[in-house]
Amino acid sequence: MPSYVDPSKCDGCKGGDKTACMYICPNDLMVLNVEEMKAYNQEPDACWECYSCVKICPQGAIFVRGYDDFVPMGGQVHPMRSSNDIMWTVKFRNGNLKRFKFPIRTTAEGAANAYVAQKGASLDDECLLLESNLPTPKI
Ligand code: SF4
Ligand code: SF4
Repeated sequence: MPSYVDPSKCDGCKGGDKTACMYICPNDLMVLNVEEMKAYNQEPDACWECYSCVKICPQGAIFVRGYDDFVPMGGQVHPMRSSNDIMWTVKFRNGNLKRFKFPIRTTAEGAANAYVAQKGASLDDECLLLESNLPTPKI
């Protein structure tokens, strides 16, 4: 089931050029109503429920409706991301809440470099990235 925006929480990312949810959606589904300064999912049928917009929204304004067959009516799963961890809140249909918090990084924010010390990461190297790590085929 698709994501949806709670308009009472959305602030239109304070009028920036591009909202966070528009930036992150891999399917370009989120759009901003500039008169109301509220975002919305313009094509719910095409939503992958990838949760990217839910995780990036600074106001916690985006939610995903769970499928009724495995998320019973009234159930809700919602992530809240910080720079170091993510907390998932699971709301059961009887109102019970459970929260799970996980670290999401082992390096400082912005410091990760997937290409450090990898063969083929330089244009001067004759190999493609990681090519030299592949086993030599036996003939
Ligand atoms: S990221 Fe959140 S606050 Fe920003 S426009 Fe989208 S729904 Fe609104
Ligand atoms: S859940 Fe994923 S596909 Fe759906 S609107 Fe959000 S970012 Fe786009």
